[in-house]
Amino acid sequence: MPQLGQGTLKGMGITLKHLFSKKITRQYPEYKREMPERSRGMLTVDMDRCIACLQCMRICPDHCISIEQTKRDFDGSGKPKPYAVGFVIDDSRCMYCSLCVEVCPVNCIYHTEEFEAQAYNRLELARQFGERPVDPTIDPRPSGKKKKKPAAKGKGDKAAAKKKEKKEEAA
Ligand code: SF4
Ligand code: SF4
Repeated sequence: MPQLGQGTLKGMGITLKHLFSKKITRQYPEYKREMPERSRGMLTVDMDRCIACLQCMRICPDHCISIEQTKRDFDGSGKPKPYAVGFVIDDSRCMYCSLCVEVCPVNCIYHTEEFEAQAYNRLELARQFGERPVDPTIDPRPSGKKKKKPAAKGKGDKAAAKKKEKKEEAA
């Protein structure tokens, strides 16, 4: 027959053992661990280097990047170049897949070590980088299937239709 209080004594023994051993708990957020090299934190964009090619926006599977593109003649050559006047990244949708980083031809969009993406309102997680804010609620790439246009009638079809009309008039 098991002795009464044996379980309690065993539990207290474990508590005492841990009371004097080295602590392994880290007090987050006062203490923050250094992020590993190449970790994928929140994205940022260097707008001075962005060439507004829209490749990051097009490749993003979650549609979290929206860019408002315009053209500006930076060097006065009379040949305006694409310019991102508005650029928003919606962190509430981002899954940190890094496809946008890989596709960028000038490496101006990249991950930071920041990972604390939190807000009271979902829209607060949409971070604006351009001169003009872009509405993050508008899907930059609506995924709805487009209706197929009916195939254009060829010249032969039109000629046959005219012949038929003439025949009907003659009859
Ligand atoms: S990391 Fe992935 S999900 Fe996030 S913005 Fe880039 S492509 Fe989109
Ligand atoms: S892929 Fe790079 S250069 Fe092109 S629009 Fe995105 S951030 Fe700008």
